[in-house]
Amino acid sequence: MKQVRDEVINLKTSPLYDERITNKVFPVIGEGNHEAKIVFIGEAPGKNEAKTGRPFCGMSGRVLDELLASVNIKRGDVYVTNIVKDRPPFNRDPLPEEIDIYAPFLDRQIDIIQPKVLATLGRYSMGYIMKKFGLESELKPISELHGKLFEGKANFGKIMILPLYHPAVAIYNRNTKVVLMKDFEILKSF
Ligand code: URA
Repeated sequence: MKQVRDEVINLKTSPLYDERITNKVFPVIGEGNHEAKIVFIGEAPGKNEAKTGRPFCGMSGRVLDELLASVNIKRGDVYVTNIVKDRPPFNRDPLPEEIDIYAPFLDRQIDIIQPKVLATLGRYSMGYIMKKFGLESELKPISELHGKLFEGKANFGKIMILPLYHPAVAIYNRNTKVVLMKDFEILKSF
């Protein structure tokens, strides 16, 4: 994990590296238990995350904390990360070339932790993870896949994938929050 961290810190070939240096902010590698059964994968750091170097520490993070608390899972017991490790300017969606450059680090984090389930937050991490684990043919809009468990094959054995809506959607949408709370119930069994 330290090697992953150091390589991301020195990733000068990233299209987001100059932005990070200019704005004097940090990459966000991930945080939590390195032996977690559950790994949450978001999209990319927002403003607060880049300022602190910690994933999901702003408004979306507050929603994630609430959702975890609703199913009695401690944030310190899980691992939280993103596909893209540096903040895209103006919080725009990650570009394909940004996903391409950072995804290998996520792949290594998954192999190190060897979790039982990957809970993807939002459509970008859902798309990447479903493809990575041979589930491309099952891909549909997130409105149809959220809250459904899929089985994939990892280097270390079987892995479950649970697509979830991104917590940011629930900040202003009470209905999505209710859906997320229901979907989080599935994580209890892990
Ligand atoms: N949104 C994300 O996808 N990741 C974060 O770390 C914060 C907000």
